[in-house]
Amino acid sequence: SPNDRILSIGQDESKAGVEVETPEGIKKLEADYIVGYDGANSQVRRSLFGDWEFPGFTRTKTSTNTATKMPTSLSTRSIGTWHPESPKMACGELPAKFERIFPGHPKPDKCKLANFSPYKVHQRLAKKMGVGHFLLAADAAHLCNPFGGLGLTGGIVDVGGLFDCLIGIHKGNADASILDKYDEIRRWKYSEVINLISTENIKKLFGQNPDTAIENDEFLKLCKKTETDPVFSKEFSR
Ligand SMILES: Cc1cc2nc3c(=O)[nH]c(=O)nc-3n(C[C@H](O)[C@H](O)[C@H](O)COP(=O)(O)OP(=O)(O)OC[C@H]3O[C@@H](n4cnc5c(N)ncnc54)[C@H](O)[C@@H]3O)c2cc1C
Repeated sequence: SPNDRILSIGQDESKAGVEVETPEGIKKLEADYIVGYDGANSQVRRSLFGDWEFPGFTRTKTSTNTATKMPTSLSTRSIGTWHPESPKMACGELPAKFERIFPGHPKPDKCKLANFSPYKVHQRLAKKMGVGHFLLAADAAHLCNPFGGLGLTGGIVDVGGLFDCLIGIHKGNADASILDKYDEIRRWKYSEVINLISTENIKKLFGQNPDTAIENDEFLKLCKKTETDPVFSKEFSR
């Protein structure tokens, strides 16, 4: 259940086991295979490789996701913002920023900050997608910045591939070596697609002069063109 926490793991040649803290007390569970999809701080990954063994890096800037009530809409908008020093300072700058960038240039007293949640941005890939009878999927195995929407989607593809591997083993159509393929292909996809594309995307934020980006960046130039060219705008949105 959502309240259960994996505390520790163990395995032998034929099965995996976890010790889980539940509202009813500590339980021990066993299975042929156990998949750790327990997020960025994965206890399963930490237990397999060590607490600080998650190769990659963390960006120094803090990102803050804010929920902001806008006058132009009845809904609350979620907006990402960055600040080199602190998330609180990022939020403090928001009203002036919104006045500058949003349609109608709403005055600071027209936007209400409903919530904010700071997070750190990582690019990291586990040493392997599993060891023996333990497997990793999604954020437990790899992290990327949110620009491009490749975090959750990468995790979904992990799970789809892993499901096929485990069904293959269960039905006797494959042996355990297929899990090496899972490791090889998903780590390759992270390195060649998720990491590369998300890194290129974040460079658009930090890797260029914000005052001239709209004139120099090829993608931003296309975005700008949608303002004045309705035919291109329709094509671009596909
Ligand atoms: C601001 C932001 C914006 C994002 N935008 C996008 C986007 O637009 N598109 C996209 O594709 N991705 C996006 N992502 C990434 C996406 O949210 C994650 O990749 C995705 O949620 C990962 O899913 P997950 O199931 O691996 O981990 P999580 O969603 O973190 O779930 C992990 C689960 O494991 C549980 N858990 C943790 N520890 C234990 C334990 N010891 N025992 C048992 N359970 C445990 C947690 O309670 C949680 O329920 C964004 C991320 C952020 C921070």
